[in-house]
Amino acid sequence: MTEQERILQLRATLHEHNYKYYVLNAPVISDQEFDHLMRELQDLEAQHPEMADSNSPTMRVGSDLNKDFRQIKHRYPMLSLGNTYSETEVTEFYERVRKGLDGEEFEICCEMKYDGTSISLTYEDGKLVQAVTRGDGEKGDDVTDNVKTIHSIPLVLNGTGYPESFEMRGEILMPWNVFEALNREREIREEPLFANPRNAASGTLKSQNSAVVASRKLDAYLYYMLGENLPTDGHYENLQIASQWGFKISHVARKCRTLEEIFDYIKYWDTERKNLPVATDGIVLKVNSLRQQRYLGYTAKSPRWAIAYKFQAERALTRLNSVSFQVGRTGAVTPVANLEAVQLSGTIVRRASLHNADIINNLDLHIGDMVYVEKGGEIIPKITGVDVHSRRPDSEKVQFITTCPECGTPLIRYEGEAAHYCPNDTNCPPQIKGRIEHFISRRAMNIESLGPETVDQFYQHGLIKDVADLYELKAADICRLERMGVKSAENIVKNIEASKAVPFERVLFALGIRFVGETVAKKLSRAFANIEALRQASLDDLIHVDEIGEKIASSLIQYFANESNCILVERLKAAGLKMSLDESALEGQSDKLQNQTIVISGVFKHHSRDEYKTLIERHGGKNAGSISSKTSFILAGENMGPSKLEKANKLGIKIVNEDDFLKLIE
Ligand code: AMP
Ligand code: ZN
Repeated sequence: MTEQERILQLRATLHEHNYKYYVLNAPVISDQEFDHLMRELQDLEAQHPEMADSNSPTMRVGSDLNKDFRQIKHRYPMLSLGNTYSETEVTEFYERVRKGLDGEEFEICCEMKYDGTSISLTYEDGKLVQAVTRGDGEKGDDVTDNVKTIHSIPLVLNGTGYPESFEMRGEILMPWNVFEALNREREIREEPLFANPRNAASGTLKSQNSAVVASRKLDAYLYYMLGENLPTDGHYENLQIASQWGFKISHVARKCRTLEEIFDYIKYWDTERKNLPVATDGIVLKVNSLRQQRYLGYTAKSPRWAIAYKFQAERALTRLNSVSFQVGRTGAVTPVANLEAVQLSGTIVRRASLHNADIINNLDLHIGDMVYVEKGGEIIPKITGVDVHSRRPDSEKVQFITTCPECGTPLIRYEGEAAHYCPNDTNCPPQIKGRIEHFISRRAMNIESLGPETVDQFYQHGLIKDVADLYELKAADICRLERMGVKSAENIVKNIEASKAVPFERVLFALGIRFVGETVAKKLSRAFANIEALRQASLDDLIHVDEIGEKIASSLIQYFANESNCILVERLKAAGLKMSLDESALEGQSDKLQNQTIVISGVFKHHSRDEYKTLIERHGGKNAGSISSKTSFILAGENMGPSKLEKANKLGIKIVNEDDFLKLIE
């Protein structure tokens, strides 16, 4: 077999395994074998650029290339669905359809309303050519590269008999378990949490970086086929056929003839949906025959042949037993309601978040109150109301604590912030442990063999009180602890040692200075090059760095004004952590593009877009994704997008070509 033939063979094999794993949930080879084949294909493709194929399984890993999404007009507009919460309106819909069809027989396809973000996929000659978001219904964003990273979406169809060109519509979803894991991670990184899987899915899909999308493990269900020359006149039947071509369709759709059957379906799935791996928020009813759909037609906003019945957000009434207070790594105190256990949306709820003192006051909560808890798309249930009539006259109003429950220090409240804080950052146990957990986390020092439990154990036994203590740990001390073998102790020490190679910008992030996230840490490390320069920077120096505002700047000043923080940094430096930028990163730095916001567009000869992005940053500039009045100039290669060109002209923004740009930063 030639290498070219092997490439084709590998592609076919990998498409098939992908389908078995992600669509059928029935893998036949191990992950390792899969990765092995994928690597072989990647290598061969690298050697044979003439064999490039935008639908190769290797496209699923995504790329770091930044992208501005092209806007694409939908061939068929993506309308919304008429919504209702009322069973009466379902009956009315059914009657309207019956009348509309002049008494002709009809079937209604009942299916789940998946709660994600909708997508339109275009296939030509059995290949995915385009994926577009709903946008405003008329036109949406071209997110094809991002969608290709979703394994349950076929890039190349199986079998035969598909129309030359057709569209599949469906919902992109983030499964509950992926969503929960993602939020756990974001919590550590102090990044804003996604409120629900829908926001997480749509946020991810719009990511400028398809490698990020690939890492987020999105899923998709396809629920509608459109086009000419479709296999049958039945919506349901077409989907069954689509499933043979490799599409993931819902297996719980059902055709009904009578209202009674429809209501049975609704009633059954209202509870059963809680066992599905993805979020749903209702049932969609569709007239099954495409001919009848066309006959019924559309109103300006939605089809006359379909309706969505939405489930009520579930609510339960239960007793508030007590309120406890949790302290996080920043010292923020979160009140938590402890409830009499109650069944809600398929899970037993015992706790609800109360967020802050204002929320408690607004609810006028008293201990022993009967409270309403709701669980919408959110995972953490919340208290939405109090049944004041059942309140006992002698019940006690919930008071926000005034001292830290962990260390006894009086709490403070910063101006303009809703949260209370324990200011004892050096001696308050959850703050200490939280900081260590942040320090070792993946995006920071990435000390894999340590986790929250081990940190807790080490702390309890007095082995560590701060992050610098980690670097003084000895395997001999660790393996004296319970459940700690020599092997794992040595592994921990080895991992800690390895973290000394972590670059300065991540060390800076790992320190956990308030408001200094990954991006800010990167900016600061570039601007100041070493920790000493950063420590001596004045408020003014700091604010002059791009994207560093007063809030971050004063947080940094405060951090270094604290003697114990400076000692900690010195100890880490002495332990051998990187406290300055690597020489190679410093090379060719300047501030020639200071305060300039630059948009990159088009195709380039001398460097890749990514390299230009790095160059811009290295010279103190900022790369932005879209043109606005804040844009300083556009770095334009060949074939700059027409809409960008038009916008640039309209705003009078200068366009700089590749050669001139390189001269500029020379
Ligand atoms: P709405 O956004 O409330 O108008 O509802 C319409 C949206 O429901 C569509 O744009 C789809 O994203 C979504 N949807 C979820 N499941 C289905 C389904 N089975 N059939 C049609 N639309 C669905
Ligand atoms: Zn405290």
